[in-house]
Amino acid sequence: MSRGSGIGDRGSGITLREPTVTALAPRTEFPLLANHPELHYLDSAATSQKPRAVLDAMRHYYEHDNANPHRGAYDLSARATQRYHDARERIAKFVGVRDADRLIFVRGTTEGLNLVASAWGRANVNAGDEVVITGLEHHANFVPWQQIAMERRAALRICRITPDGRVDLDDLKSLVNAKTKVVAFNHVSNALGTVNPVNEIAAIARRHGAVVVCDGAQGAPHLALDLDSLDVDFYSFSGHKMLGPMGSGVLVGRRALLEAMPPYQTGGDMIEVVNDDRTTWNVLPHKFEAGTPNVADAVGLAAACDYLDALGMDRVHAHEHALTALASERMSAVPGVKIHGPDVDRRGGVVSFTVGEIHPHDLATILFPAQWDPKLGIHVT
Ligand code: PMP
Repeated sequence: MSRGSGIGDRGSGITLREPTVTALAPRTEFPLLANHPELHYLDSAATSQKPRAVLDAMRHYYEHDNANPHRGAYDLSARATQRYHDARERIAKFVGVRDADRLIFVRGTTEGLNLVASAWGRANVNAGDEVVITGLEHHANFVPWQQIAMERRAALRICRITPDGRVDLDDLKSLVNAKTKVVAFNHVSNALGTVNPVNEIAAIARRHGAVVVCDGAQGAPHLALDLDSLDVDFYSFSGHKMLGPMGSGVLVGRRALLEAMPPYQTGGDMIEVVNDDRTTWNVLPHKFEAGTPNVADAVGLAAACDYLDALGMDRVHAHEHALTALASERMSAVPGVKIHGPDVDRRGGVVSFTVGEIHPHDLATILFPAQWDPKLGIHVT
């Protein structure tokens, strides 16, 4: 959704023709891009810009329906509850989950994965057990498992990746055994763009009864998802990477596991009955949503799902594939550039590259010198 490639016009010596892939959505639908016509925004994997439809939905919620949901008997509170409920149903539909009560709102992928590692992990990972992750993980799906393994005195096993940046399935087969409690991996790698074969990895984990956790931070924004047909126990993603608001995110869990595991946080709406000496937990999804929920951001994320559905996720994927193929082709032609990761048919919209021994940070600084934008109040490239 950015214009052009942003490379080649800053004295780098690389000359590119006009891009041959046309934008899927007009810039004018994204207020930040419309406000900065000179901006070539290439950081959507970190966070995407937001279409006006998302901002309008959130504003409408605050201007018409805002109250504390689930608590009050009055009309406005009931309306806020309904908006929250509708948002959950809408997002569940977008990612192919039939039972929306298995969809827990969280602040983002990081919180979703921490919830699983802390709540499920503490109850299920014990001394002598093994936790398997891959060498392709974002810190959000690495450190929580490292920490829970240390705390529970379990062993952390890290699956190798192949030279072209895929999970080495043979290594995975040799790592997973009867002691393996969980296999955690990403759907799409933020580093190399690798699209992982989720069900194949899950099948290896299942042979020994391990729980399957998938980091969907780069999956949900870029692929048409049908989570009910993916063999995962937990899948987490971030709203802000898929045109939705910052601070919105989702954890989808298998019902039996969510019901059996302890809550992550306590207080507020997640309780059923509180006594002086004990408390019982509310049903799903409330059991995992302590405190006042983030309704406006859920509403905004639902609007992002509407927007993406209107574009069509298959078209989004085809568009990204065309851009990735074009960028890979042009960049491979530049002397000294080495592209990392699998071939374009097995990767999402990321082209990771190095130039000789130059440190990536130095290269980025030279290619895209930041300039202070007084209107935006930030350095833009
Ligand atoms: N996993 C992957 C693969 C990611 O790309 C990211 C964000 N860069 C995260 C997890 C963490 O997402 P968040 O910061 O939204 O929690």
